[in-house]
Amino acid sequence: MAAQQRNEIAAHGERDYPNECCGLLLGNISEKGDGKVCTEIYPISNAREEEAKRTRFLIRPEELMQGEKYAGSKGLDVVGFYHSHPDHPAVPSAYDLDHAWPVYSYIVVAVKTGRAEALLSWEMQLDRSRFNEEEILNGS
Ligand SMILES: [Zn+2]
Repeated sequence: MAAQQRNEIAAHGERDYPNECCGLLLGNISEKGDGKVCTEIYPISNAREEEAKRTRFLIRPEELMQGEKYAGSKGLDVVGFYHSHPDHPAVPSAYDLDHAWPVYSYIVVAVKTGRAEALLSWEMQLDRSRFNEEEILNGS
């Protein structure tokens, strides 16, 4: 993942603060099967009602379908999701674990008092019991 995508996720998190932002990670699964390449992000508005926006992110099915269609038109796949944690660490919550699927990458950016800080990527363990942090490598 290039710095540009990381910066765009951070900027989206700051823009939507104090609400959570969310979006899709578009790219390809590495041919060697050892990781994913994210070449583009696809911002999505937060579908939750005002009250819940701070702590819960949700992507509507039609928004996901639109994102997948857009990705397909550019020869990309949805390889993961991102969202922000306003005034909370960049660690997935129990809610995030309940609503995640294996294989995808989940990037969480911590936004503290309006400024993006840590940005970490997580992948759910296949038995769905926990997330493991995955390294974000610098791409071009
Ligand atoms: Zn979360």
